[in-house]
Amino acid sequence: MNKQPSLFPQLDSKPKEAPALAGASSLSAAPCAYVRVVVDIPSRALSEPFTYGVPEELGATALVGATALVPFGPRMALGYICERMDSLPLSGEGSVPHPSRIKCIRDILAAPAFTEQSARIAFWMAREYVASVSECLRLFLPPGGTPRLVRDAKGSYRVEAPATSEAHERWVSLTEEGRSFEPAARAVRQRQVLDALACGPVTTRELRVLYTDMSATVRALERRGVVRVEERRAWRGCEDATTLSSANGAAPVALTAGQQEALEAIEHARDDAAGRVVVVDGVTGSGKTEVYLSAIERVLEDGKSAFVLVPEISLTAQTVGRFRSRFGSRVAVFHSRLSAGERRDQWDMVAAGTARVVVGARSALFCPLRNPGIIIIDEEHEQSYKQGSSPRYHAREVAAHMASVYGCPLVLGSATPSSEALARCRAGEYAGQRWLRVCMPERPGAARLPEVTICDLRREFIGGSRSMFSKELREALLGVAERREKAVLLHNRRGFAPFLMCRECGCVPTCKHCSTALTYHERTHTLECHTCGATYRVRPYPAVGSACPKCGSRYLAKMGLGTQQVEDALIQLLPNDVEVIRMDADSTRGKDAHKELLERFDAAECAVLLGTQMIAKGLDFPEVTLAAVVNADYALKMPDFRASERAFDLYEQLAGRAGRGEQAGRVIIQTYLPDDPVIRAVATHDRSIFTESDLAQREEAAYPPFVRLTNVVVWGADERACRRYIEELAAAVRAQMGIDNPTSAIGLTPLSEDEGLEPPSSPVLLGPVPCVIERAKDRFRFHFICKTPVGYHVSDCIRAALASVGSREGISLSVDVDAYDLM
Ligand code: ADP
Ligand code: ZN
Ligand code: ZN
Repeated sequence: MNKQPSLFPQLDSKPKEAPALAGASSLSAAPCAYVRVVVDIPSRALSEPFTYGVPEELGATALVGATALVPFGPRMALGYICERMDSLPLSGEGSVPHPSRIKCIRDILAAPAFTEQSARIAFWMAREYVASVSECLRLFLPPGGTPRLVRDAKGSYRVEAPATSEAHERWVSLTEEGRSFEPAARAVRQRQVLDALACGPVTTRELRVLYTDMSATVRALERRGVVRVEERRAWRGCEDATTLSSANGAAPVALTAGQQEALEAIEHARDDAAGRVVVVDGVTGSGKTEVYLSAIERVLEDGKSAFVLVPEISLTAQTVGRFRSRFGSRVAVFHSRLSAGERRDQWDMVAAGTARVVVGARSALFCPLRNPGIIIIDEEHEQSYKQGSSPRYHAREVAAHMASVYGCPLVLGSATPSSEALARCRAGEYAGQRWLRVCMPERPGAARLPEVTICDLRREFIGGSRSMFSKELREALLGVAERREKAVLLHNRRGFAPFLMCRECGCVPTCKHCSTALTYHERTHTLECHTCGATYRVRPYPAVGSACPKCGSRYLAKMGLGTQQVEDALIQLLPNDVEVIRMDADSTRGKDAHKELLERFDAAECAVLLGTQMIAKGLDFPEVTLAAVVNADYALKMPDFRASERAFDLYEQLAGRAGRGEQAGRVIIQTYLPDDPVIRAVATHDRSIFTESDLAQREEAAYPPFVRLTNVVVWGADERACRRYIEELAAAVRAQMGIDNPTSAIGLTPLSEDEGLEPPSSPVLLGPVPCVIERAKDRFRFHFICKTPVGYHVSDCIRAALASVGSREGISLSVDVDAYDLM
């Protein structure tokens, strides 16, 4: 990392004075210090820090990371303090505003939430992802715990208190005298309370759960000096204990050779303290989690702390349990099922330094963990590490940057590393950081990678079978039932929900307001738009009144099997004493539903777990001997250059669920495309079959990791205005990149691929054109894509172009650097 002379060199090299506040009185006394404040105003696309004075009375609280109330132009605004200085920096050019013209902050609204280092990371993100600094800084604030500035009907500003508050618990404990206290024989309740307290302090809530409301009894005992009652801060969100056996594993006796090698590489990276990246490329079940746990143990011994990012989908009770059983109350957890209060308390536990291991989804990276000694990202290739709304960051990239800032290693674990990670390891270096790959090709002990069978559904169909299960899968399932084992059955319908299609004209009904295909909901006989939520009543053939919206034909047929139908077929096939557990978005709606279903599966003697992709990942049940895919083709046929990579990951992960214990495992994949490289790679556990063809295709078509893709989308109600605006913006970006503008700017240029056949050594701009989803919620959508060489600063070009073109009333814009979603 090169040394940066100032905190904010790219965005603002000299301190700016804040716009004058109308009618503001001049300062009564000289400020005791100066601060640089990022003002949080939503309408400002790009924020830069302003310099304010600190009045004497705020001297002790106006610290870096605090939220301040500041005058800004004619009004008041919230701002985040990013830097504090004792005096104004002297500048030779005389561009520093005169101290008498600098405004003072008015108040401090929230205590420090981030450090100067975090602020620097936020500035880096703002630059990298063309986002505003305030929205990047907001990531570092306590969840739901920040004040807001609201404007009331009369136009005056008011500070709104945080939405969450601290919770307290009343702890009851025995006093010294209380130990020898003997209640009267008839005082049954007093006896009960004393029994409960015999092993240590208990909360009033626990007493209530144990017996009934005991507050009167406790009060009586307190008056007599038998017990003491204290109010303490409660840490919500620590209670999700689970009975899952595998969540409570102790450390293994000995590590495998692969695990040792991985740990050594991590140790080297820690010693070297240069922010190296170690990719742990280990087959499923090779013991990657165990590597993380051992590495964290060492980090904690050094008095440092650890970040562990896990995809939201695998943040199950099982994963969390493994960390909690090893590190106890030093673990804080962040996932989407936490309530606002729980999230706040977990955050505070980290801020207070009580929790030193953070396990969470991508945003956990921004919690105030002190002195990080390691950052771990499990399943590094998962798309959920990319944020879908601004700032559109990728956790892998932010973590790599953080690792170099903190001088700690970044560990990326995966059974199917992303092509980005593989390419960087091959080069040995990326953006000034060293990238190293360690392989763990084997499972520990007796566990073997399972044998994979591919079932050709075309042959089944020609053979006259209309069942959704092939002969092999049927027999394998019955075998599991007979031997009293367990199976997992994947039915992935992501992006492929059931829809209606006209058998006569091929029409698929789409939403009136959006151009998305409508999803059919059987229970309610409705077609629903998953973009805007509009619903349409309709019945498929053979119901009377079913009609194609285009040709009027009655043969409007339902396509795409739902998990419920597969469940019905399973129940029919299997004997009654096999439990069938279905896990999908519908069956896991409740807060603990996911955990409860897994606990049922764990406790069952013989069971089949059927589900969407949420069952393919992270589960560790040694009794599972069969893993199968009902139809592998849905995932292969998605219109996206990353579809193969994602499908391979999914099936390899699913295969990894079988044979984790003593029993050998078996995998069955049903497909109409048995020759697809992805299917062949999974069948042989040989990734190179797929990666080589995939990488060759991407290189030829100039896709990541050979280039970077940036997607710029514009949308609004006025189609022509949007079209004009994106043309103008694209021209400005071309000018910034030094690309010749096409002479005929009338109409839209096609998104043609031949502009970028070779991995371009100079930037290419494709489009602008209407998006694949041309309309959403009655807004017209247009986009262009920048393909730029790795290392080219595309963000700066787009930022400059945006600054020159400006924004437009009624037109929204998003810039997605390293875009995953191009629709
Ligand atoms: P991964 O994260 O790579 O899928 P896990 O860390 O979940 O693998 O390990 C798979 C299984 O192997 C777990 O049940 C774990 O307890 C066990 N295991 C891991 N390392 C060892 C080891 N060195 N010796 C014995 N068992 C191990
Ligand atoms: Zn039709
Ligand atoms: Zn819609």
